[in-house]
Amino acid sequence: MYDLIIIGGGPAGISAGVYAARKRLKTNLITFDWGGQSIVSTGIQNWIGFVEINGEDLAKKLKEHLYAYKSDILDITEGEKVVSIKKEEGKYVVTTDSGKVIESKAILSTAGSNRKKLKVEGADTYEHKGLTYCASCDGPMFGGQDVVVIGGGNSALESAAQLAAYAKSVTILQRSDVFRADPITVEKVLSNPIIKGITGTEIIKIEGEQFVTSITYKIVATGEIIKHNCAGIFVEIGHEPNTIFLKDLVNLNENNEVIVNPKTQQTSDNMIWAAGDCTDAIYRQIGIASGDAIRALEDIYSKLKA
Ligand code: NDP
Repeated sequence: MYDLIIIGGGPAGISAGVYAARKRLKTNLITFDWGGQSIVSTGIQNWIGFVEINGEDLAKKLKEHLYAYKSDILDITEGEKVVSIKKEEGKYVVTTDSGKVIESKAILSTAGSNRKKLKVEGADTYEHKGLTYCASCDGPMFGGQDVVVIGGGNSALESAAQLAAYAKSVTILQRSDVFRADPITVEKVLSNPIIKGITGTEIIKIEGEQFVTSITYKIVATGEIIKHNCAGIFVEIGHEPNTIFLKDLVNLNENNEVIVNPKTQQTSDNMIWAAGDCTDAIYRQIGIASGDAIRALEDIYSKLKA
């Protein structure tokens, strides 16, 4: 039996894994992939120690750091997803999608979150037919065309900047009256003459033939309905926490995020901790996820060794 199972291979999980190994806790880190959400970023400029690093390179470096500690103390279960956790007398029994069963005295979930889907008329019909959730994967297919980005956070603004390298024009449609992305990013992205940012919008529908041809939206303040012709729509409207396997074990909030004690990252179950984007933390940054996971690890260590 392991002391600890860490779920997730993003910045939080990897930070916890390194600390767990250094503290000689017998740990198994289970992850489907590496790097978390930041892997799709072409240029991360706020991971301290690197003026700029792309998401894939950061993921590689994080993985390398964890593998440096792989030993009889630290096992790594790669390419697998946790499907259930059962609490039994003095232990947790974790089952993965391949049917592996792994037991531990404590759990740290750093399982992050999944992309939120756009729920408007035409969104499902045109997914992969012009509507996509990955600017870095699909952007180059829209060379010389008019594209739209939906969202107003850092992901949307960064996607718009990437798309501007290929597209004829990029229109960002943000739901509320202000952009959520860092002001320095908003200023830089909107200074590009081919990028236009429109706030206070409501998406009505997406239309097309074989592929997307237009998006219709409303300017909420005036009620004006606008049909905008475009070939590509990039959806960047945030994420939903990956907490399904925790729902019967710990308290979640109305957004299905794990409620944690911000001093310790402990959940409502005294041997389950959570850190990073699966929690109810207000601020979501790579550095914060990593720091929260380290705080969790310190607390786990003191509980396990008490
Ligand atoms: P955010 O939660 O920051 O932003 C989501 C955006 O989508 C908001 O503009 C929101 O609008 C909009 N939105 C949400 N739901 C809908 C909907 N149903 N219809 C239309 N619009 C909707 O998500 P991000 O993915 O951008 O970022 C997640 C976290 O990761 C953030 O903390 C961000 O700072 C961080 N990040 C940091 C990066 C960096 O520092 N380099 C890069 C990328 C992400 P509204 O404002 O109206 O709610």
